[in-house]
Amino acid sequence: MKIEYAYNVENVITRSKDFIYINYRKINNQDVLPYFIFLNTAVGVKVKKIMTRKLWMLEKKFMRRLHDIIHSQLIENGTHIQTVIGLEEACDGCEKCSSTAKKCLEYGPLRFSTLQTMTHSKNYKKLQVTDKLFEVIAEYCISRSKNKKECFEELDKTILSTISCEKLVIWINESRVLLNERTRPKFNHRHMPREVIDIILKKWSVKSIKLNILHFTNEPVCSLEWLQYDYFSRVRLNDPYSETEQSDLKFNHVEVSLRYSLDCVRGLGNLPHETEPPAGYDNFIPNIRRMFPTDKISMELSHWCFVPKLDIEKKMSTILQVVTMEKHQNLSLGIKFFVKSGIVKKLNEETNKEDLLGIASGYVLQEKRLHCFKKSSSFNAGGHGPEVFLDNEWIGRRFQVKDTVNQFNFNLDVYIKEKELGEIFDEEMLKEYPNSFVGHFFA
Ligand SMILES: [Zn+2]
Ligand SMILES: [Zn+2]
Ligand SMILES: [Zn+2]
Repeated sequence: MKIEYAYNVENVITRSKDFIYINYRKINNQDVLPYFIFLNTAVGVKVKKIMTRKLWMLEKKFMRRLHDIIHSQLIENGTHIQTVIGLEEACDGCEKCSSTAKKCLEYGPLRFSTLQTMTHSKNYKKLQVTDKLFEVIAEYCISRSKNKKECFEELDKTILSTISCEKLVIWINESRVLLNERTRPKFNHRHMPREVIDIILKKWSVKSIKLNILHFTNEPVCSLEWLQYDYFSRVRLNDPYSETEQSDLKFNHVEVSLRYSLDCVRGLGNLPHETEPPAGYDNFIPNIRRMFPTDKISMELSHWCFVPKLDIEKKMSTILQVVTMEKHQNLSLGIKFFVKSGIVKKLNEETNKEDLLGIASGYVLQEKRLHCFKKSSSFNAGGHGPEVFLDNEWIGRRFQVKDTVNQFNFNLDVYIKEKELGEIFDEEMLKEYPNSFVGHFFA
């Protein structure tokens, strides 16, 4: 069950805060409890999965009430619960949530208070943590020690190997601020204490990683305390990768979700000098490979905020340049790229006619046809607001860059909405440009 808050971004100040979307249906504050009771009694649903999003943006009283009735009606009521995501954003960690964490196979993001109760032995399918948790752990260990040695002993006692998890999901807020720069904040990724991340990866026997890059969360302010000590190494995914130490761990797969990212999407879709100021995202993949060594990275660029909606040919070649800034060896990289159909043509200023663009050089079109279905909630783009809980069919084609010597394989899967493809279909034009990019979607 998806329980999420969404609003029209144009009304961010005046937005109403007393409704919620439950499985894409708008339910008002006073109707939530009757709705849950109805589901329990009349329909007899057994909720296995609860995914909440942005509950912290609700009116505070409603938020707390919603948190409580999710527990009383959906979680404590049955024995079926397997997954609970995002609920601690509403309470900042509480007893009900920490006892839920013990029952689930997938849970998070964990607040520190919940982590401290996880002394049981359990193999989780998925655990979720935030960049903030890493800081909180670092500062907790510092506060309980007199020197670096004691601090790391404390860290060792804090992260227990009684729990393990197949996949660790790390929420990274890309627009955090330091407390002392509140008047002129520089929104950005922030340093994370590397040793905290490493000990979690080791002790929990993490096999694969998902980085959830988020434009904002309810934990925007960084702690300064741990930065006063030189106990922990500082890492940031957009810092120069030459400074990042190579980890000796190995992971099956690193997945990057950019669904709710702005800056990172912009950074990967533009050359460093095209973003102001250059945000360092050309370091992103090299840093991932140093912090979370893997032979397989997949990413999803699912929206176009701040990436010009023009010129697919240039965009494909930019992406290739950004992701191959460092020469990769033994890497299979996959990017799913969801684009607006307008990107396939360009106005020719001499003829004042539209030309169909081609495929950027370096890529080879693959036979395989791709198809996917997306139901997406509101973010920042064009349509915003509730009507953006849209169902969409997407058609895709795979473009490949292969370097057999270095065993580097890059698949760029470009998707266009099926509906939009129909709208731009122009037989004459396709004949005139037999090698056009978009032609491959019809051929
Ligand atoms: Zn709670
Ligand atoms: Zn740095
Ligand atoms: Zn931003």
